[in-house]
Amino acid sequence: MDTAPVLLVIGIHRDELAFGRTVAESLDPRKVQVLTIPEGLSGKRPLIDQQFKYNTLHQALYRQLLPSIQGRHTLLLDLHTGSDPAGPSADLICADAAWRDRLAFEIAARPALAAQNLRIVPLGTVSEFPHAHTVIPKQIWNNPEFIYLGMEIYLPETASGQTAGRDLAQSLVTLVADLAAKPFPTSTQQRLAVSRQMHPQTSHEQTAGDGVPTFLPGRRQG
Ligand SMILES: [Zn+2]
Repeated sequence: MDTAPVLLVIGIHRDELAFGRTVAESLDPRKVQVLTIPEGLSGKRPLIDQQFKYNTLHQALYRQLLPSIQGRHTLLLDLHTGSDPAGPSADLICADAAWRDRLAFEIAARPALAAQNLRIVPLGTVSEFPHAHTVIPKQIWNNPEFIYLGMEIYLPETASGQTAGRDLAQSLVTLVADLAAKPFPTSTQQRLAVSRQMHPQTSHEQTAGDGVPTFLPGRRQG
């Protein structure tokens, strides 16, 4: 594959594009190719009678990404933002259990990242979380040809907090790109160790609210 292993998509929600650009600007193009959605969707929570239209628009936009990913990249990284006055914090949302374990292991091994408020969230119907609801089509988040990883960075409103959020996002994108470029380790012991380590955190502390990764801007529950 002569393109970068990771395709980073910014601007699915237009209000989040400016932050996405700041994250994208210093990335290594050999590792991460950036796809900018110039006119993304509104990320505002739809009124009840607008829900169908909102879902339809999202599904159409995500499906348009398929030709950009398939056969070109091993991982689709979908960047979003939300708000967290105590942030920055982040959710990494992925349907692939091996990838979730791998991320947990690598984050735990990096003190600067392990100290951050990060959450690795399963996506899909088979999980301990009620994550069946998503506006993203299944052919995006569960495709045999590539991994889907949603990254939601929750930002405080302060300038320093925004900068810290950008730095966090860049660190995470770089980590993901490095992992995507490497062969996949599948040590059962490693995965079991990570599993024990991460599940206490993910199973209760941060699953208040609806617990569903809807990719809508909002206050982080916790
Ligand atoms: Zn978003």
